[in-house]
Amino acid sequence: CVCVCVCVALPVRSGRKTFNKLLVVSFDGFRWDYDQDADTPNLDKLAQEGVKAKYITPPMITMTSPSHFTTITGRWIEDHGVVHNLMFNATSKQMFSHKATQNRSEWWDNGVMPLWITAQNQGLKTASFHYPGGGANYSGQAVNRALVESYTHPDSNETEWRENIDIVMGWFSQEDFDFVTLYYGEPDNVGHRKGPETVERKEIIRQIDHTIGYLIEAIHKHNLTHRLNVIITSDHGMTTIKKIPEVQEIKLSNYLAFSKLVDFHLLDYGGFGMITPKQGKEEEVYNALVNAHPNLTVYRKGEIPESFHLAKNSRIQPIVVVGDLGFNMNSRFIFYVNKGDHGFHNGEMDMKTIFRAFGPDFKKNYLAEPFDSVNIYPLMCRLLGVTPAPNNGSLSFTEGMLVDSFDPAPTTPAILMSFILVATMVFCIFLM
Ligand SMILES: [Zn+2]
Repeated sequence: CVCVCVCVALPVRSGRKTFNKLLVVSFDGFRWDYDQDADTPNLDKLAQEGVKAKYITPPMITMTSPSHFTTITGRWIEDHGVVHNLMFNATSKQMFSHKATQNRSEWWDNGVMPLWITAQNQGLKTASFHYPGGGANYSGQAVNRALVESYTHPDSNETEWRENIDIVMGWFSQEDFDFVTLYYGEPDNVGHRKGPETVERKEIIRQIDHTIGYLIEAIHKHNLTHRLNVIITSDHGMTTIKKIPEVQEIKLSNYLAFSKLVDFHLLDYGGFGMITPKQGKEEEVYNALVNAHPNLTVYRKGEIPESFHLAKNSRIQPIVVVGDLGFNMNSRFIFYVNKGDHGFHNGEMDMKTIFRAFGPDFKKNYLAEPFDSVNIYPLMCRLLGVTPAPNNGSLSFTEGMLVDSFDPAPTTPAILMSFILVATMVFCIFLM
């Protein structure tokens, strides 16, 4: 029967093999509107050849490690537990710098699985290039390949940026990796040192745009154009720090007797801070700060708004302080190092960041409405054909970005093929 022959000749998808590879590139501190006042031909071209979201909203706390870990886990900060760039222990008073935390699993491994591990457990090969959290072990499992930023790593060396792209392209094309995250420390570094509204920041955006051009060329050169999807995103924005004489800066020691009332604190890190009062001094600390400064908001842990998705975690200290946009949480001294900073409320437009995507599974010239970065996780899972771990994201914000022909469920085609086969056979029998 002719009909049956036609049927058998149709391609039958065999699960995982039909899913394209995925590269996620994160440029730290890339504010949502940085492409609007700098010359960015490659980013502009990508908006036409792929997907651009108007902006995305990072989780509250708008800091590097907490926000990157929300992207790679799809969990709110209170669930994944990476509540700060610094690793700390309020009891022992130990603190570790952002870079020092990168190999310390006890800071990252809090029972939530990042996508690298979930994908590996479903048969995929994954890697992390400098991405926060990639160097840790999760329930004893390491990422297949993880490069961790060294202490002396230069943030803005364009030649090294290109070399890193070449390395990652080799992982995809020669070693058949399925999923790689690639992290760059700019434009965050320049945003802090020079401020977001400066010539230097515009220059680093142009450098990033060249690098994106280089990435597109490298994808072609490695014959990955039709089998690699790319997401370009970031962790938070940046704002200019307000200083005297324009404003009265916030120095908490003006209102709070640190030596008498404070046992431990995480202050001097931008717009967000935490305080551990001495035994029985919580009310005194709260009362000292609650009306201290018009641009300072103080919360008892139990009163942190639900929308922050923070209060549930044991690492959140009894008192949380947040500054209005541009007002840093200084403790005893004001360090005049940073001209720009973040950590402010994620509702502020200056804290919003970017989302771009292109590749075989993404629509072209598609402008997406703003969404929360927690929703990137289910999108990555769908692109890779990975069954997601429990998460706080939803596909409803991002599935419109995918081409109409994208078929997410590996089992559907098999069922469909069986149905067509049976129907055709019935039809053939009917004809005979
Ligand atoms: Zn930063």
